[in-house]
Amino acid sequence: MAIWVFTDTHEGAPSGSALELLTKARSLSDDVAVFAVGTLNDAGAQALADHGAQDIYQMDAGDQLAAPAAARALETLIGDHQPEIVLFGMDTTDRDTAGRLSARLDRPVLANATDVSNDGPVTVTNEILGGIKRVVTSFEGDGVALIVTRPKAFPAEPGGSGSVVVTSIDAPDTGIVATVVERHVEESEGPDLEAAAIVIAGGRGVGQEKFSTMDELAGVLGAAVGASRAVVDAGWVPYSYQIGQTGKTVKPDVYIACGISGAMQHVVGMKDSGTIIAINKDEEAPIFGIADLGIVGDVHTVVPALIEALKARS
Ligand SMILES: Cc1cc2nc3c(=O)[nH]c(=O)nc-3n(C[C@H](O)[C@H](O)[C@H](O)COP(=O)(O)OP(=O)(O)OC[C@H]3O[C@@H](n4cnc5c(N)ncnc54)[C@H](O)[C@@H]3O)c2cc1C
Repeated sequence: MAIWVFTDTHEGAPSGSALELLTKARSLSDDVAVFAVGTLNDAGAQALADHGAQDIYQMDAGDQLAAPAAARALETLIGDHQPEIVLFGMDTTDRDTAGRLSARLDRPVLANATDVSNDGPVTVTNEILGGIKRVVTSFEGDGVALIVTRPKAFPAEPGGSGSVVVTSIDAPDTGIVATVVERHVEESEGPDLEAAAIVIAGGRGVGQEKFSTMDELAGVLGAAVGASRAVVDAGWVPYSYQIGQTGKTVKPDVYIACGISGAMQHVVGMKDSGTIIAINKDEEAPIFGIADLGIVGDVHTVVPALIEALKARS
């Protein structure tokens, strides 16, 4: 049976999570399709095809809030094509549509999935308590399985035939009129936090006045800067920097946690990083429990010394 992947679009490109979900979808079925909100450009459609999409249904809602129309359109398409699973990412439109579709189809949504299986009934794996326990839940009854997945749960790997049929459908009239009046794109410099190979994350221990040392270290390493929620809540950096349960999920090759305690809510957003390096003056800090390398010391001493040593090498 078919597996469908939902994606929002930005300037004609699909979301990054769509490519991850297509990779997973290919492992579950030979029949993989995408439902896209917005209009894909050629490169965007090709990227989806290169990751395994055979069919794309795209619906442009213009300046209207997309989720009500997307849920209505998907309800009809699901009735026609009977996919086994629809996979959503964590983006706002993904979650908004999944909830509305759940109500329309009277089917549950299982969210925060870190794995999905259809070897028998469709099951979803969730990690709880900061990832120390896994819960596997299965769907019951007939009908489509609606699943919202965690970012970076699956690596995006190209595969599939690379050819795709794109079908544009009209946005159905739902009677819900909600107009998007403004879109705000956060200005940022340097690598994208969610895609960077190296992430420097600063916590409360860095202090507001010295937080710029995180940018300096990141500049030397070509890294992106992230932060704990304590730092974001204090207003030292914008919310877009936040890593963790209520922030971004990152999976860089190297994660350097500076002055971060390692609270469970932070750890869930970075624990799958390749090599985790922690700098903390408290040797009992929980972050050392998941770190591959730990430096017990003052960030205000260790980080400048690191910057100097790295500069001397280059
Ligand atoms: C529902 C909910 C959701 C949450 N979501 C998130 C989330 O998405 N992301 C997130 O990060 N948190 C989240 N939190 C908050 C989380 O529980 C922690 O409060 C937060 O992560 C702590 O941030 P911190 O480690 O920077 O600060 P602290 O816990 O205050 O730790 C500071 C650390 O810095 C060390 N330190 C201090 N000075 C120095 C120094 N000079 N040199 C070296 N080390 C030093 C200390 O030893 C300490 O370990 C959430 C909480 C809740 C309840």
